[in-house]
Formats: sequence, C-alpha cells, structure tokens
Amino acid sequence: MSSPLPSHARAVVVGGGVIGCSTAYHLARLGWKDVVVLERKQVSCGTTWHAAGLITTLRDTEAQTKLATYSLKLYQDLEAETGQATGFIRCGSVQLAMSADKAEEMRRGCAMARTFGVENHEITPAEVKALFPHAYVDDLVAGFHFPNDGRVNPADVAQALAKGARQLGVKIIENCLMTGLITEHGRAVGVHTEHGDIRAEVVVLCPGMWGRDLGLMTGIDLPLQAAEHYYLISEPIAGLHNKLPILRDPGRAAYAREEAGKIMLGFFEPVAAPWGVDGISKDFCFDEIQPDWERMEPYIEKAMQRLPILLETGIRQFFCGPESFTPDHNYLMGRAPYIDRLFVACGFNSLGILSGGGAGHVMAQWINDGVQPMDIWDVDVRRIQPSHNNKNFVVARTYESLGIGYQMHWPNRQWETARNVKQSVLHDRVKAAGACFGESAGWERPNWYARPGQKAEYEYNFERQNWFDNNAAEHRAVREAVGVFEQSSFGKILVQGRDAEKVLNLIATADMAVPVGRVVYTHFLNKRGGVEADITISRLADDKFLILTPAFTCTHIKAWLHDHTPADACCVVTDMSSAWAMLNVQGPRARHLLSSISTAKFDNEAFPYATWQNVEIGFQTALCMRLSYTGEVGFELYIPTEMALPVYDQLIAAGADFGLAHCGYHTLNTLRVEKAFREWAHDMGPVDSLLDAGLGFTCAWHKPGGFIGRDALLAQRDAGPLKRRLVQFLLDDPQPVLVHNEPILRDGVRIGQTTSAGYGHTLGASVAMGYLECAEGVTPEFVAAGSYRIEQANRVYGARASLTPMYDPKHERAMG
Ligand SMILES: Cc1cc2nc3c(=O)[nH]c(=O)nc-3n(C[C@H](O)[C@H](O)[C@H](O)COP(=O)(O)OP(=O)(O)OC[C@H]3O[C@@H](n4cnc5c(N)ncnc54)[C@H](O)[C@@H]3O)c2cc1C
Repeated sequence: MSSPLPSHARAVVVGGGVIGCSTAYHLARLGWKDVVVLERKQVSCGTTWHAAGLITTLRDTEAQTKLATYSLKLYQDLEAETGQATGFIRCGSVQLAMSADKAEEMRRGCAMARTFGVENHEITPAEVKALFPHAYVDDLVAGFHFPNDGRVNPADVAQALAKGARQLGVKIIENCLMTGLITEHGRAVGVHTEHGDIRAEVVVLCPGMWGRDLGLMTGIDLPLQAAEHYYLISEPIAGLHNKLPILRDPGRAAYAREEAGKIMLGFFEPVAAPWGVDGISKDFCFDEIQPDWERMEPYIEKAMQRLPILLETGIRQFFCGPESFTPDHNYLMGRAPYIDRLFVACGFNSLGILSGGGAGHVMAQWINDGVQPMDIWDVDVRRIQPSHNNKNFVVARTYESLGIGYQMHWPNRQWETARNVKQSVLHDRVKAAGACFGESAGWERPNWYARPGQKAEYEYNFERQNWFDNNAAEHRAVREAVGVFEQSSFGKILVQGRDAEKVLNLIATADMAVPVGRVVYTHFLNKRGGVEADITISRLADDKFLILTPAFTCTHIKAWLHDHTPADACCVVTDMSSAWAMLNVQGPRARHLLSSISTAKFDNEAFPYATWQNVEIGFQTALCMRLSYTGEVGFELYIPTEMALPVYDQLIAAGADFGLAHCGYHTLNTLRVEKAFREWAHDMGPVDSLLDAGLGFTCAWHKPGGFIGRDALLAQRDAGPLKRRLVQFLLDDPQPVLVHNEPILRDGVRIGQTTSAGYGHTLGASVAMGYLECAEGVTPEFVAAGSYRIEQANRVYGARASLTPMYDPKHERAMG
C-alpha cells in the first residue's frame, strides 16, 4: 500500500484510471476535502496507460460531444495548473469518407457538432493530402477537418489528474483492492478492502474492465466486456512531425497519427475478439495481450493502403491491450440504481480518454448537487435492464460493439448480434404478419410490417428507407380506420400498499387521489423541475396503482421510486412487466372493432377518455385503458400473458371487416410526432423543465404536501414568460425525411437542434420538435415572428413552427 488506509473518507473512489482520477480531481475542485482513491495496483495500470490518446470531438450525441470538448480544454490547461504535462498537442483531426453515404453521414454529424461549438470544415481529397502528405486519397469522396482536436499521452493525463487531485488534498492509495461494498439500510456507507474497511458518505466505482465483476459483487448490473484492442507503431519515417492531424478512416476501420517520428495505426475491426471472458488475472498491471496476427492481418493490410509508405516501412511494435465495451456502445455513468450514495463510471468503449475529463466533471457535480448537471441519459447506468448483464449476451454483442463506431451510422440501424433476448408471447404471430423487428431494452418489437412478398428486412439509406411506404399505409390506417400495435414490451409496475397514494402523490406531479378506474397522465420530476419520467398511472384499487412506461425506462422508474419512497411508508413496488401482453388498438374504428368482439361498451359515455375497465373478449378478460399516443381514439389492452394469443386471434379475425392494419413502432412515432406528443429522453429529460416541455398541465399545484420539483416550477412560473419552450416544426418541402438532432436556424442563426422527428404522412411533410429560446420569453408572437430552417447535412429546409400541435390542435379526435 502506498499510504495507510484511513478509517473514514467523505468519498471513496475505486479505480485509479483516467476516470477515477478525473472524478476525484473534480470532487476536490468542488471543495471536497476528504476524498480517497483506491487503486488495486498502480495509477493508470489498467487500460489508461496504453491508450492512443486521440481527443476527437465529433461524437454521436450531444452529451458525448460535450464531455469530449470539456476534456479537450482541460487537458490543455492541466499542465499549467499541476506542473505535470499531459502531452497535449492541438494537431487537429481529419475524418475520411470513402463513399457518398459516409460523406452524407459526416455532413449530418458535422452540422450537429457545429451547434455545440465544434469547429469543422468539409475538405477535398486534395486538401486531405495537403494536411497529411503520406495519405492515399484517390478513393476518397471527402474529408472533414476538425482543427481544434488534439492528442495526449494518456498515462500523463492520469498522472496530471492524480497530481492535481493530490494538490487539492485527495489521498491516492495504490496496491489496495476493494473487496466489497458496505451497505446499511440500502445505502452505501463504505468499502471493504484487502487492508481493512473505510467508511464513506459516497462510494464511486470507476473500475474499468473489472466493472461487471465489481457490479456482481455489489449488486448492480454493469454489463461490459473486455476485448482485444490494437494499434501498431511503425519504424521511423523521415519528415513526420507531431502537428500532422489524426486521420480517422472508417472505410478501412482504422485511425492513424504521428508518434515520435513514426506512424501509429490503430484498428476498430468490424468483428472483434472478446478477451478475459473467464476472468482477468488478479495480477494484471500494465499488462499487454499477445497479439493475434493471423486474425488481424486482413485489417492491417486494408488499413495500410491508406498510408502506402507503411507497406515499405517495418513495424516496430504491434500492441494489443484490453478495453471494455458495453452492449449498446454507451458508457455506464451516474447513480447506481437501488443503492443510495453509490455512483459508477465505467464501460467507456475506447473513448475513455477523450471523455474522461468531462465524465469526471459530470460525476463530481452530480455527486455534489444530487442532480446531474447535463442530460446524459444515453450514457446513464439506469438505462440498463437486468437482461443486459447476461454474460453470454454481453460477450456475443462485444464482437460487434468494438467496431460499431467506425461502421455506417444509418438512421434506424439495428444491432445484428445477440438478438432475440426477449420475445413477446405474440412474437410468432406478428412475425407471421410481416413484422420487421427492432430491439429496445432487449425486446424484439415490430417496427414495421412488410407487405406480402416483401422481405421484412431493413434496407438502410439516408432518404426514404424501404419501409417508408409501409409506414405511410400503417399511418393512414390509424388516421382513417384502425391499427393494432403489439406493445407487450411496455413496463408495468405495480405500486401497492396502505401508503401507495401518499407516496405517488409526493413523487408524481398529478393528483393521485382519484377514484378507482381513472388513468392519470403524469410525470416524476427532480428537485430542479427536470423531467425524470413521463408515464400513466392507473388506480386499480384504493391501495393499488399501475405505472405504465416504455421498457427502456423500467430500471430508472423503479430506482426513482426506490430513492424517493419515504422509509416508513407502507408501499411495495413490483415489476409485473412479464405478466401482461399489450395490444394497442387505435383509430376512429377502434371502438367499433372492439365492440364486435366484446360485450363491453366503448362509446364516450360508457368508456370516457383516461379511464380503465376490465373487458371480456371471448373467454378472456383484459384490462383495457382508453388512451391515445396517436391522436386518435384508442384502447390499450393489457392481457394476462397466457390469454394473449386467443385475444390477438379474435382481434385479427374480426379486424378484417374494419380495415385493421398491423402497425409498428415507426408508425407510433410518426403519429405521435404529428400530434406533438412528447417522448421522454428525446423531447424532454432530467435537465428540461416540465414547463419548457409544455406539460405543466399535469401538475396539481395545490395538492396537499406538493410534489417533488414543485418549488422549482413555481419559481420558474413566477419569473415571467417561459424563456425556453418546445415547439413543433413542419417542413415546407415534402421530400426530406428528418431523423432528429438536425440543427434549427431561426432568422439564419443556429439556435438548437431537433429533439425528435418523423414523417407526418397526414400533414404531408417531415415533422420535428425542438426548443426555442428567448430571454424575453418564447411567446406565440415570438414564435410567429421568426423564420425557420432546419439543416440536414449541408442542406437547409424552410419550416413552419407552432406552439400547438399542427394535427388536431383541439384534441378532438382522441376524445371524440
Ligand atoms: C489500444 C487502445 C487504444 C485506446 N485509444 C484511445 C483513444 O485514443 N482515446 C480514448 O479516448 N480512449 C482510448 N482507449 C480507451 C481508454 O484507454 C479507456 O476507455 C480508458 O482508459 C478507461 O479508463 P478507466 O479509468 O475507465 O479504466 P482503467 O484505466 O482500466 O482504470 C480502472 C482502474 O480500476 C482499478 N480497479 C479495478 N477494480 C478495482 C478494485 N476492486 N479495487 C481497486 N481498484 C480497482 C484497476 O486496477 C484500474 O487501474 C484506448 C484503449 C486501448 C486498449
């Protein structure tokens, strides 16, 4: 051990890689005095020491871009602060496009990155050559130059962060293995180590590729798997200098940069090799992996063609080190579910150096403030469902996930490995009906239905994909007749007990003191008024409520209930998701279809909007809710799993007379976006105020005891007109297909990006949503006064903006 183990610390950070050091450094910068880092061997000895050190800021999402741009600045400034160099060189980077499709993808990504302040320019192949004279450019369509990107020496970054942390009072203890978590009453209160225990107010796990094992030890799901990760270093090449830009070459699944007068050539091969599947040696410390030349040879050959000089130059070193990858190629950060005061940050998918500064910053602020400082849902550990942590699943997905960053990022691209984890009981039926499945939270869900004779497979492109017409027909069926959506993946969470109403009234915005039979649309908020959940809650009995939520939010919702249920409340939460299948029948003929197979009455009087009833269909009984996420009259049938097949069969048999169409999730999206119904994690999230999202109507402002987040919303309400509001956009041009993340321009100025989008087949063009901001208030007059354009790649399209839904603004159809 490098220093004696204290008996107590305010925070214990486990892991002395770049992430642990950065988290400790940022906690200390926030004034935390008593922080201890525990490292099982030596600082940076896991994965950090051997990284290539690329700090490239074009990332897939806003959150990841922000983490990278923060790191870039931090690594530049750290030497002045700590006296320890990070090896930062602002060499810039160039991403290469070998096909028109890749160029289109890059133009879209670059447009988004510019919204977040990342400077970039499209350049010609000749200009690529001018920047990197050794590059072969004849097969290029375009290059994209990021002049501010840079590179670092990762081991030095970790040391600089560690030194900065020590200077601020952090104690870093090496050769000290954490062997267990100490919990009391569901709360982390310290750790066991090989040298004794430390009590702590907060525990932060930053264990890199040991994450899954540590998660199993502490009771949380941290699905990640190490894989072989390679680069080679050439012999010296005359004329190379360290200002040569980093070349990222997705078409050849490789990157290159200068390294002390040599070329470093690194690989993101499309089929990877998981490593350490049976465990990682206890003694691992600055270790390397024996390279598999045979497996890598084709990739090396292909990559070297980009820099033909390498074909004549010897290889000085062929390096292989382990890095961990997650099943969706996103990090695992944030508050661990179900264990209070426990935080995690691991699974960085070979982006840990470039994200490390920002990740530590976010973690520290989150720990300090109790609320995340920015929207990081795409990397939040609470998106993980227990099924993700199945070892076989994680390993199988790793073959694909390592290389995914360098593959084509098609809209709606689906994972190809480790599929069919969860199938609804209706899976075979809807497959036979032509379903083309997409995956969400492990579930196979019908995204669209093929016509007879058409293959139920995606053909990706950036325009209208092969399912566009199918989607149009499904969309029309719901608007004009009736459609059925198979939505069994929905999360169904029972909240029961004497205090269930009291607990939900504290956590949810709406008044839950409603009669049995009511369905309430409501939200969970954090203390800043940010939206943590967008759900319905049905009162099934005096002491029994049912929460319905999309599958990908299940862990988050359950953990949120766990976090905010008072300790003395008599209230139990049970995940019943597997107990019910769900068929959602939507459209003006929905009630006629259901009336034909059930004795229940589905008219307005007998079955008002936002209520539920048990309805009998044949010998089966289903819990039926009248709700609409499509803008039409609709009924959701929650059917005991074992009764789902007969109900489905009766529905389909009767449906022929009513024009019933099978409809997929793409159609649910195009319908709801036309109606401006919000989607959580797209149109609103933990840092978006409920009022800004236009959903303040769900708040029962005066209910006794208030609700979490009410004070923040009241303060915002009292401060005058809202300065930020979610707005719906409709393109003037009927041709383009918006996806989301497209920059929005108001009067020629980039002011944000679309949060979600889809083709409005009824409105006749792409529809999107996005936030407008104005210091004097986003009033209807302000919205009407602007001229709007939406940018996609290098093209801009005129758009109309509206604060109210452009389809059925008075909500008459769903209520009719
Ligand atoms: C070949 C290669 C090239 C790469 N290139 C880049 C790049 O160019 N840019 C980039 O951004 N990223 C790159 N990466 C990825 C980057 O190195 C990682 O994402 C990053 O280092 C992860 O940092 P970490 O702190 O999460 O993990 P680690 O550095 O592995 O740190 C985790 C630490 O936790 C310690 N630990 C684990 N369990 C315990 C325990 N029970 N008790 C105490 N301590 C424990 C370990 O000993 C380890 O030191 C590359 C990776 C490889 C392999």
